[in-house]
Amino acid sequence: MITFDRVTKRYPDGTVAVDDLSLEVPTGGITVFVGPSGCGKTTSLRMINRMIDPSEGRVLLDGVDVTTVDPPTLRRGIGYVIQQAGLFPHRKIVDNVATVPQLLGWDRRKARDRAMELLERVGLDTGLANRYPFQLSGGQQQRVGVARALAADPPVLLMDEPFSAVDPIVRASLQDELLRLQAELHKTIVFVTHDIDEAVKLGDRVAVLQVGGHLAQLDDPATLLAR
Ligand code: ADP
Ligand code: ADP
Repeated sequence: MITFDRVTKRYPDGTVAVDDLSLEVPTGGITVFVGPSGCGKTTSLRMINRMIDPSEGRVLLDGVDVTTVDPPTLRRGIGYVIQQAGLFPHRKIVDNVATVPQLLGWDRRKARDRAMELLERVGLDTGLANRYPFQLSGGQQQRVGVARALAADPPVLLMDEPFSAVDPIVRASLQDELLRLQAELHKTIVFVTHDIDEAVKLGDRVAVLQVGGHLAQLDDPATLLAR
């Protein structure tokens, strides 16, 4: 479980990005942070893997204040997917994914087998494994990004607008794929989007933020839609 306990983030220029946020992200489900641009979604997400630390309050991962854990150790258990997959441009697709297990000490052969299995799992045509990122479409690159985030088998997955840059039809299939994958893997997922339809489709719980970094509402999708 991830707990935000009265978390405030004030940037050096005085901007309050997140204001006294308290909520719990249950283990094994998808919690979506939704709201307009600038409401503090990315800032909130990045306080979980310590790309940003809170100004006040605490973020706890299974009861442990994340700021007491050094970032590399913390991030071993937290996959991270962003809008532009951010693949290594000079490495083949398979090696983009295999790099992570290799860093964890797996031998190259085993890491590549693991990568191929993951690429298949995220629905990528594995015939693309020996291509380079620029030879793939945006949607295909995002699938690789998800595979890479899963490579170390982290219990937690942070996803920051991962499907926003692809066209609506591909986006829908990526969303379906994520739900299918999650039904097998039961990760603890925090998913950031500005798209309420996406939030309702993917989230077990949806946290609605408003500009100024306030939590306006926290509900399951059915309750949210009924309001
Ligand atoms: P969202 O992800 O919802 O678009 P962000 O978390 O990126 O929101 O930003 C929340 C607020 O904090 C916005 O007003 C943004 O301009 C501001 N902000 C984000 N990063 C910084 C920064 N490094 N310095 C100052 N202000 C920032
Ligand atoms: P995203 O598309 O991921 O929400 P943003 O456009 O919010 O990204 O921010 C891009 C980068 O600029 C981030 O590193 C963020 O911290 C920084 N940033 C965003 N808003 C501000 C701001 N008002 N002042 C300074 N840096 C900012």
